[in-house]
Amino acid sequence: MNYRSFLIKYAEIGVKGKNRYLFEDALVKQIHHRLKRLEGGFTVTKEAGRIYAEASEAFDFDEVVNALQHVFGIVGICPMLQIEDNGYEDLKAQVVRYIGEAYENKNFTFKVVARRGNKQYPVVSDQINRDLGEVILNAYPETRVDVHNPDVLLRVEVRHKINIFSETIPGPGGMPIGTAGKAMLLLSGGIDSPVAGYMVAKRGVTLEATYFHAPPYTSERAKQKVVDLAKLVAKYTGPIKLNVVNFTDIQLYIYDQCPHDELTIIMRRYMMRIAEAIAKESDCLALITGESIGQVASQTLQSLGVTNAVCELPVMRPLIAFDKQDIVDISLKIDTYETSVLPYEDCCTIFVAKHPVTKPNLKRIEMSETKLSEKIDEMVKTAIETREVIRCI
Ligand code: ATP
Ligand code: MG
Repeated sequence: MNYRSFLIKYAEIGVKGKNRYLFEDALVKQIHHRLKRLEGGFTVTKEAGRIYAEASEAFDFDEVVNALQHVFGIVGICPMLQIEDNGYEDLKAQVVRYIGEAYENKNFTFKVVARRGNKQYPVVSDQINRDLGEVILNAYPETRVDVHNPDVLLRVEVRHKINIFSETIPGPGGMPIGTAGKAMLLLSGGIDSPVAGYMVAKRGVTLEATYFHAPPYTSERAKQKVVDLAKLVAKYTGPIKLNVVNFTDIQLYIYDQCPHDELTIIMRRYMMRIAEAIAKESDCLALITGESIGQVASQTLQSLGVTNAVCELPVMRPLIAFDKQDIVDISLKIDTYETSVLPYEDCCTIFVAKHPVTKPNLKRIEMSETKLSEKIDEMVKTAIETREVIRCI
């Protein structure tokens, strides 16, 4: 079948009451954005609870479906034949043509479900079901009708035009990007943080990201890996502004001044402070990390509490109760795993103590941080001001 158009199904946004149009418009915008880079000259329109993407030229079917499968908010992608209303006999002929071209092997059971959005149409839905069933059976005697559990459910929607479709390719679900504000993802080169960003973005949140880079302890390749991860996540979220903060001086200063078993936790507190300052500058409403209870010393409840204490913005930790394997499964699904496991050093691992505190005490950590008071504010300011911004598409 040479499809020209797609019907886009969305679920949750259908129930948003008065604000429904905002969600629909955001979805239309995201679909348009994603398809405009592909061949096909697509126009995306909405019409009474339906979104259509229609091509004006030839396109690569798999490429378009793949692009649509990266748009949050879509639950189903239905390739469809959309025809003008040229009379009932024409509809019958078009349905026969559709079945003929869409299914090579006609050995299936089917059911026709017609819906008449246009109540002026001269034939009622039940009659359309029966008549179309009959023409299909006549044209393709190998087919059979099964109204309870059909292999092929052929939908015929009679509206302004007529939509004929029978296949639904699953979309990613979630909510359209741009409907839930913006958040700052602390993006490292690991497995967890790209997954955390993906999960929050799937609820409609626009992402910005911050990466703490510690040259020469961390290499350009380690940075490139983070850029690559941001680009992979951006396939779902749209462009991500990545802030690369040079963290070396701060880390060395902490290393010189503070007890080594507290290094990780103090470093993490500075990461959060800096990420939050950039977040506020960019109008982000929250921070996102890939933390998960008990994964490492800095992710005990005590450590999470001490890290959290420096933040004013809410910190979203979507993976907090996930097992590692479940996180890995998502990273495989969203295609970040292979990049995440490339073996480049991480700034946390280089400065990590042999026996980091696992139950830090907030007062003690705050005491240790007073040893930094001479230079740290200036260093934080410089780190923020000299950050490199990379647009990841
Ligand atoms: P990940 O797999 O995401 O790197 P992790 O298991 O290695 O996580 P940590 O190193 O303790 O765990 O980091 C916890 C979280 O802190 C990360 O998920 C990320 O959100 C943030 N983070 C850690 N290192 C960095 C970094 N260099 N730059 C930005 N964020 C970081
Ligand atoms: Mg890490």
